[in-house]
Amino acid sequence: MKPTSLRPTRRCWCSVPAACSRSPRAGPSTAPQTLHTPSKRFPALVSHNTTTWPSVFCSNAARCLSTRSAASSGDEDAMANSFTVTTPLYYANASPHMGSAYPTMAADALARYYRLRGREVKFVTGTDEHGEKIAMSAESRGLSPSEHVDKMSAEFRDLWSALDVEYDAFVRTTSDSHKELVRGVIERVWENGDIYKDRYEGHYCVGCEEYKAEGDMLEGNVCPIHQTVCETRSEENYFFRLSRYQNELEEVFRTNPDFVMPEARRNEVVGWVEGGLKDFSISRGAVEWGIQFPSDPSQTVYVWFDALFGYVSALLGMAPGAGTDARSASDGLGWPADVHIIGKDILRFHAVYWPAMLMSAGMPLPKRVFGHGFLTKDGLKMGKSLGNVLDPTDLVARHGSDAVRYYFLKEINFGQDGDFVEERFVNIVNANLANDVGNCLNRTLTLLKKNCGSRVPMDSGDISEDHPVRLECERRIPEVPAAYEGLDFAKAAESILAVSGRGNQYLEEAAPWALFKSEDEGDRRKAEETLVAILEALRVVAIALHPITPGLSARIHEQLGLPGAGPQAAGWEGTAWGGLCEGQEIAKPKPVFARLELEEAETVA
Ligand SMILES: [Zn+2]
Repeated sequence: MKPTSLRPTRRCWCSVPAACSRSPRAGPSTAPQTLHTPSKRFPALVSHNTTTWPSVFCSNAARCLSTRSAASSGDEDAMANSFTVTTPLYYANASPHMGSAYPTMAADALARYYRLRGREVKFVTGTDEHGEKIAMSAESRGLSPSEHVDKMSAEFRDLWSALDVEYDAFVRTTSDSHKELVRGVIERVWENGDIYKDRYEGHYCVGCEEYKAEGDMLEGNVCPIHQTVCETRSEENYFFRLSRYQNELEEVFRTNPDFVMPEARRNEVVGWVEGGLKDFSISRGAVEWGIQFPSDPSQTVYVWFDALFGYVSALLGMAPGAGTDARSASDGLGWPADVHIIGKDILRFHAVYWPAMLMSAGMPLPKRVFGHGFLTKDGLKMGKSLGNVLDPTDLVARHGSDAVRYYFLKEINFGQDGDFVEERFVNIVNANLANDVGNCLNRTLTLLKKNCGSRVPMDSGDISEDHPVRLECERRIPEVPAAYEGLDFAKAAESILAVSGRGNQYLEEAAPWALFKSEDEGDRRKAEETLVAILEALRVVAIALHPITPGLSARIHEQLGLPGAGPQAAGWEGTAWGGLCEGQEIAKPKPVFARLELEEAETVA
């Protein structure tokens, strides 16, 4: 479904136009590109009390959650093969913390998994760089807002690099193309009759950059997230008519039970929606550091209305010449996203405001919003005041990215709250990665070098189907795709590690070092088979675990002497048993994973 011209007449932009009962509204076919010049299209603001709206958004909003099969676009194949995952766009007021590293590691694991499956992945991350809080942080550091966000944004990219995060697009909401996209969206939402001007008085949390309803605050108007008293503010702003989308949003949740996951979060969101949606202000008179509101230079765009569209501008930024019209991203450029991974603290923005904003802009909705839990350290909420902040940069520098990624994805059920205890971290990583994988591989390769001249003595495919290691591998690995696809990284890791665990255990049981000393040909054959079975299992483990531990997986394949670009080149089909061939030369055995050491300071505490 390519636009027929650069400026198509207004029409439904949902991805199931055939299902959309609304005919295109008669409208200007030559809309100006920007709102910089006073336009006759904005002669008067829509009155707050108007009860009939021009309904141009798709009335089948719920069905707009295009499943791949429903997409009737000419880019059907491209859509079927593409997979778009996003992290939150992190607020660039301070350095990245563990709470930003965590969903990014998860998104990277998911992206890597789908790349293994041969999908054309678009992994979007970035920084949200506008708003009052950023201007305040910059000032407190003696920097201009722009210098401040340059510095912060670079810190995020450095951390992603240290964590082996391979994103496809890193969007910054201060980029010119993003600003132009946001102004274009506001123009469209305005034409839809979804913006009006009104005076607002309420309790504002600067930390959240959000007006809080009475029921969302603790006693004394305290923000439950920031534990600070919300300011009473009164200003004249532009409002987004969220209330108009009440029925459509209810329909979304009725017809798409998986739109928000996990289920507990979904129930929370449904409760908010059913409680009645209130319009919210989308401009600020007192905030200078933001995108100037189209048609009214005295206001800037509310940071959330600006930032959420960063997901779309990121996709357009990946396609040279795609321009800045948000709707273009629906034409085979990766929108709608398959999943937004977010923290539960920003669930309302992603699961309530964002779908309504997209409907108003005539765009399809993301397929899923997944809200992960909060992290604690030693059972306590992390905070500067408690002095127990877990610095991801420091943790990666001390233990390496594979260990950090493995712990957070394996030990914490994604979607639930999770705790970090350094001693547990060291013990789990050592038992699983250093011992069951690293040490097992090293011992097996050393035996192979000594007894078989560093060459694989038989095809792994010739190992009998009821061999205990092969059995475990062929039983557990098929469980893994569903786990990854359900964002259950803990389950995926558990199934994979069961295979290496069985391999390590079998090495002890079979004791091939003793069998190699035997004069009996059958004993020798069993010893060889043992080594090959274990190496084959570890070859498979390396591919299956690549989404979680890409560095370790690559080193395992190097040790096995496998050519090519490592596990990612093998693809998921490489997890089928039988990849090691007779005569294959292995590399000189060297450790693939160094045991972690618990630092003194931690043991004393
Ligand atoms: Zn707050």
